[in-house]
Amino acid sequence: MQVGARSDIGRVRRVNEDAYCALPGLFAVADGMGGHRAGEVASSLAVDVLTSHPFARKTPEEVQAVIQDANRRIYEDAVRQPKYAGMGTTITVALIDGDRLVIGHVGDSRAYLVRQGYLRQLTADHSVVGELLRNGGLTQAEAVTHPHRNLLTRALGTSPEVLVDVVTEQLAGGDILILCTDGLTNLVDDDELIEIVTGHNDPDDAVDRLVALANDRGGIDNVTVVVIRTSDE
Ligand code: MN
Repeated sequence: MQVGARSDIGRVRRVNEDAYCALPGLFAVADGMGGHRAGEVASSLAVDVLTSHPFARKTPEEVQAVIQDANRRIYEDAVRQPKYAGMGTTITVALIDGDRLVIGHVGDSRAYLVRQGYLRQLTADHSVVGELLRNGGLTQAEAVTHPHRNLLTRALGTSPEVLVDVVTEQLAGGDILILCTDGLTNLVDDDELIEIVTGHNDPDDAVDRLVALANDRGGIDNVTVVVIRTSDE
C-alpha cells in the first residue's frame, strides 16, 4: 500500500482549519469551522480522538462509536469555553484492515474509490445542496453555484449527539481511495480526479498535483487530500 497525504492553507484563508491523519490502516480528513481559531481546534481534536483510539475490533460500530466520542469531546469544549462556542468540523475516516475498508463520516468531506478507471463517491454529503441533489430538487450544474453549497446539515461538535454514516467495502488490488475536503472538490471535477490519481504511480505526486490544481484555480479554501493505493495483485 502506498500513501500520499497533504494539507494546504490555499491562497485566500489566513488559517488552515483542515486536519488529517495518515497512519498505518487509519486515515482521516476533517474540515473545521468556527470563529478565530475554533475551526482549527475542532478539526484537530477530532483527528486526535481518532489517532489515540486503539481500534481493537475494527468494526463499523467501533468507527461509529469513536466518531461519536469525538463529537462529544468537541461539543463539551464548545459549550465550556466561550471562545470555542459554535465550533464544529466534518470528519471522514477510512479504517483499512487487510482487504476490509470501513468508512465513517459526518459532513461534506468525501471518500472516493477509483477502481479500474471508474470513480465512485463512497460518502453522501451532509449538506443542504447534497440533500437537494439526492432528492432531485437540484441539478448537478445548479449545485456547483448554489449560494448555500457550504451549509452543512450535519457536523461534529454542534450538538450533543450526532448521526454517523458508515460504509463498508471490500478492497481489490490496484484500488485507489481518496479522502478530501471541499477545498478540493469545489474546484476539481471527477474526471480530473480520476486522471490525476491514475496518472501518477506515486500517490505523493498525485496529492501534490491535486493541491496545485486547486490553488491554480484560486485556492479559495484550505485543501486536504489523502490518496491510498492498494498493492497490485
Ligand atoms: Mn473547506
